[in-house]
Amino acid sequence: MSMRRREFLGSALGVAVATGVDSAGAQAGAKSYSERLETPIVARYQVVVAGGGPSGVIAAAAAARSGTSTLLIERYPFLGGNGTAGLMTCYNGFRNQRPPEVLQTVKGIPADYIAELVRLGGVAEDDPYPKSKHDTAKGDLPYCIGFDPEAAKIASLNLLKKEGVALRLHSWVVGPMLDGPRVTGVIVESKSGRQAIAADIVIDATGDGDIAARAGAPFMGPAEKGDRMGMSLMYILGGLPANSKDFSGGIRLNDRVVKWGPGFGGDGLDVENLTKAEVESRLKLWEQVQKLRKEPGKESVYLSQIATGIGVRETRRIQGEYTVTEQDAINGTHFPDVVAVSSNPMPSYHGQRFFFAHEGFDIPYRSLVPKKIESLVLTGRCISCEQGPFQSARSMAPAMAVGHASGCAAALAAKGNIAPRLLDVKALQKLLLSQNAELRLKA
Ligand SMILES: Cc1cc2nc3c(=O)[nH]c(=O)nc-3n(C[C@H](O)[C@H](O)[C@H](O)COP(=O)(O)OP(=O)(O)OC[C@H]3O[C@@H](n4cnc5c(N)ncnc54)[C@H](O)[C@@H]3O)c2cc1C
Repeated sequence: MSMRRREFLGSALGVAVATGVDSAGAQAGAKSYSERLETPIVARYQVVVAGGGPSGVIAAAAAARSGTSTLLIERYPFLGGNGTAGLMTCYNGFRNQRPPEVLQTVKGIPADYIAELVRLGGVAEDDPYPKSKHDTAKGDLPYCIGFDPEAAKIASLNLLKKEGVALRLHSWVVGPMLDGPRVTGVIVESKSGRQAIAADIVIDATGDGDIAARAGAPFMGPAEKGDRMGMSLMYILGGLPANSKDFSGGIRLNDRVVKWGPGFGGDGLDVENLTKAEVESRLKLWEQVQKLRKEPGKESVYLSQIATGIGVRETRRIQGEYTVTEQDAINGTHFPDVVAVSSNPMPSYHGQRFFFAHEGFDIPYRSLVPKKIESLVLTGRCISCEQGPFQSARSMAPAMAVGHASGCAAALAAKGNIAPRLLDVKALQKLLLSQNAELRLKA
């Protein structure tokens, strides 16, 4: 890093930086002064969370609750990630779907978030998963919570407001600011132009590991063609006839039902493939619903809503200090540095839904710490695991539990000026337990 950039990065808000990305700084010689100093640092936070999906929202809430100034940045004008934008409106994996399912493996801030969803009346009447009886209103959560996507957006906003998290919507995080291997903030693009936001610690909650990958962290996945989990376009059917049993298998919201729509393959990071997926799936879905409306008794049904974007299940998994293996998941391995537990089945393990014969497998802190890159913590579906455990932990309840851990870790690292890699995991576990997380450890 040049002295000029160091000087700018260290100065007050509102002063311009040369560029967001180191390599661009190196190439700046040929450009004019104003061209080089085009990206202003507009804000500085202890923790910046890139991505406002289920994991990012909980991570931001956890970082703020743990005492750091925290900003969450999201490309859409609302929160909730694939749960709302993708209309994937059932949070799976608060406990094992089948016995043994005595232990609720996801508690803490994710449970506080669900309490807010319940308070708003945002839990669905029905979802596709049979389950044993639980008192959701009292925080005793079943395997799955079906929900109203609009209520989930509001519950996310309410949680972040309560915890004091600052928000920046309509903003694409296009890359990290780097000082060698250290992430010093992020570059965002929005209607306000290109801006930089400085941070002590950045959490990559983009789902795709965009920040980690662009910082140069090594990554795995997606799995080979045959095993890769595909994309699906979710939708809502409205105008369901009263008491109709014809629309079971979806997530029931009064007279509407959320359904799984057409699937699509290929690379979920390739913009041309994504465009093709959106166009073909939408046209197909429209035709499907028009056909359905011609069936006797279904004339009142209409296409109420299509997801903002097709749901992408699997892209990058960033390589961390430890990669959770398929055997770890199947054996229910315990790790001394556990920071979350995933009990969700592996939904397409060699083509079948694989249920664990245990209460869950540990997610170790090391799988949240990317190799090679400093001041960056991973969360959500891009954490370091093989494809089997990924299938389980990517579900939204465990992804929220991981968010809780990443937010607490980022806060401890920022407040103590410690590299996430060197964090005292016992202190992190103590903080998580004080916020009611389930780690299967004694406080
Ligand atoms: C079709 C489908 C069905 C599924 N079924 C279920 C199910 O039934 N139950 C279940 O629990 N899980 C299910 N999942 C999995 C689950 O939805 C995801 O794995 C989960 O949402 C991951 O959470 P996340 O917070 O890591 O990422 P996401 O939910 O993807 O959130 C990432 C957020 O970051 C934002 N973002 C991304 N990149 C940037 C950027 N560069 N700048 C700014 N913002 C950015 C996105 O807009 C998004 O809001 C399903 C997934 C799919 C696709």
